[in-house]
Amino acid sequence: MLKKILIANRGEVALRIHRACKEMGIMTVAVYSTADADSMHVRLADESVCIGPASSKESYLNIPAIISAATISGADAIHPGVGFLSENAQFAEMVEEHGFVFVGPSPQHIRDMGDKIRAKELAQAYGLPTVPGSKGGVDSDAEATKVAAEIGYPILIKAASGGGGKGMKIARGPEELSEALSLARSEAKANFGNDQVYMERYLSKPRHIEVQIVADSHGNVIHLGERDCSIQRRHQKIWEEAPSPALTPEIRKSIGEVAASAMRNMGYRSVGTIEFLYENGEFFFIEMNTRLQVEHPITEMITGIDLVEEQIRIASGMPLSFKQEDITFSGHAIECRVNAEHPRTFIPSPGQITNYHTPGGLGVRVDSAIYAGYKVPPYYDSLIAKLVVHGRDRKECMMRLKRSLDEYVIGGIETTLPLHRFLVTHEDMIAGEYDIHWLEKTLEKLED
Ligand code: ADP
Repeated sequence: MLKKILIANRGEVALRIHRACKEMGIMTVAVYSTADADSMHVRLADESVCIGPASSKESYLNIPAIISAATISGADAIHPGVGFLSENAQFAEMVEEHGFVFVGPSPQHIRDMGDKIRAKELAQAYGLPTVPGSKGGVDSDAEATKVAAEIGYPILIKAASGGGGKGMKIARGPEELSEALSLARSEAKANFGNDQVYMERYLSKPRHIEVQIVADSHGNVIHLGERDCSIQRRHQKIWEEAPSPALTPEIRKSIGEVAASAMRNMGYRSVGTIEFLYENGEFFFIEMNTRLQVEHPITEMITGIDLVEEQIRIASGMPLSFKQEDITFSGHAIECRVNAEHPRTFIPSPGQITNYHTPGGLGVRVDSAIYAGYKVPPYYDSLIAKLVVHGRDRKECMMRLKRSLDEYVIGGIETTLPLHRFLVTHEDMIAGEYDIHWLEKTLEKLED
């Protein structure tokens, strides 16, 4: 078993990983930028190393500084967390070359799945259905016009190295195609340094359904059911639930098995998530995340399995501690992402938290690294807390979530809490009837 893990991340997720380590008797090393010196993840870690100034490029993305921190602290492994370097194949490679264990999959799998065009091709080869679209990238307007005519409008242009919903543009008809292409290309170039794009049919009413996979280095692969992440703003998730209100037990079983079998074919190791769009009873693979997911707690709540602990056990070379038949799903869980941003415009709202009170009680979990007096820095992702609620069924979960949201106080900055209070009482949400476009459409209607 690993003895000392350097956590190459910050905030809530760094704390989440620290907690799993402590329960496993593993020592932790925090890294931090000068802007994060007062952070909870630094205070609670056994040791901490400053790795650079506020800018993430010079700190949390600074590979040599992180490797040096691992060397001087005598860590035997590095956990990349979520975001930052978690899906950077070169980082994973360097971690291993320097003699540390990378708590994640093989660099090759990160590389394969990080290129979304290649990921789609591999997914098909491993038996996963994909959204109809271009074969590979599209390089010219003429080629795009031809592909669009074949797959039919509206179409979606996506960045090959995309992430966080960036570099995605819709063309509703041929007249919009050329502009959408050049916008998608320049956004992709600006965000990912790669302007390659591909095309897909734009689905009009899909749900975002993803399957959690856990695979060890001994060939055991199992799935832990699905999460429904259809409630999104700007193609980014804000409310997630497990199980999905839209799936029957038969569909759940079949999508889980198809996903696990694809991962078995691929020889995948570690935790991972296969994302699908689900429309009219059909599933289409869109991408795979080769890391822990922000929304992993809802799966933990309905399965009772600590995913970070499992991930660390796998990285230590141990076999999975359960088989597929040991997994039972119990009740319903919902996660609300609490972001430091305006609840309607989603403009970031960094600043000092003046007062803070968290909800509690049976089935309520708050994963967060903030506290009263903490100053949310303007440099990083706006996620500051995850409110995760479990109930014996969806109805109980929604009632518990409503009262938890009513109790939650975060003073001094704008947060998405008011948005969640609106969602939890909306009749469509109570009925579980929504798709990936629902939130945007509903907010637009409110503005009229
Ligand atoms: P990213 O890596 O940027 O997050 P994804 O491929 O995971 O990109 O897609 C993010 C979101 O964009 C999906 O959850 C969905 O809401 C939307 N989306 C992606 N592909 C399609 C599609 N073909 N049709 C409609 N919406 C899509």
